[in-house]
Order: sequence, then C-alpha cells, then structure tokens
Amino acid sequence: MSDNAYMQNFLHPPKKPPKPAVKVMKDGREICDQLTKAGRDEYMRRKRVAWEDQKGICAICHLRLNWGDTTADHIKPRKSGGSERDDRQENLAAVHWTCNTERGSKRSGYYGVP
Ligand SMILES: [Zn+2]
Repeated sequence: MSDNAYMQNFLHPPKKPPKPAVKVMKDGREICDQLTKAGRDEYMRRKRVAWEDQKGICAICHLRLNWGDTTADHIKPRKSGGSERDDRQENLAAVHWTCNTERGSKRSGYYGVP
C-alpha cells in the first residue's frame, strides 16, 4: 500500500457492513439480533403485528391486552437457554407479561393452537 493509500485508509477506514438485524438459520428459524437497534426494532415490529392480528386479545388468557402490557411469547418455546429460539412471525404471539411468566399448564386453549 502506498503512503497515500495508507493515509486515505487511516482517515476514511472502510465501513464494516452492518450486522444483519435478523439472522436466518439453516433450518429456517429467524432470530432478531437483540444486540442491534435494527434487530430490536424488527422484533418490536413483529410483536406489534401479532398484537394487531390478535385484535388486542392476549393469546393465553384471551382477555383484553393493552399494548403497554404486551410481550411477545414464543409459541414453540425456546429450548436450552434460548439457543433454539425462533422469532418468525408465525411463532410469535402477543400476551400479557404476567401471563407469560405464569404459563405452564395453561397452554391448552392457546390462541391459534388447538
Ligand atoms: Zn393474558
């Protein structure tokens, strides 16, 4: 590299490509990268889509769900510490924070899941 090119590189280092907001895994799962703003925004957008699709009804208790109380629940739960999470739209449901933490035996009657 010539001195001039070296200086140019020093003054204007090539930009790294941005990290993708959503990682697509070989098995088709999608994972929103919560470490990037774009990934968090995308996850929020999907949560909003689920909430609107459900017309503001919690997928677990079937009661009215205000947007401010909404968290995204994974219909197929994550396995082993989140390494198998799947943030695809069809795997996300809008639920109450409280319902999400109390879940367990309540899974029967889950919204859209017989
Ligand atoms: Zn609920």
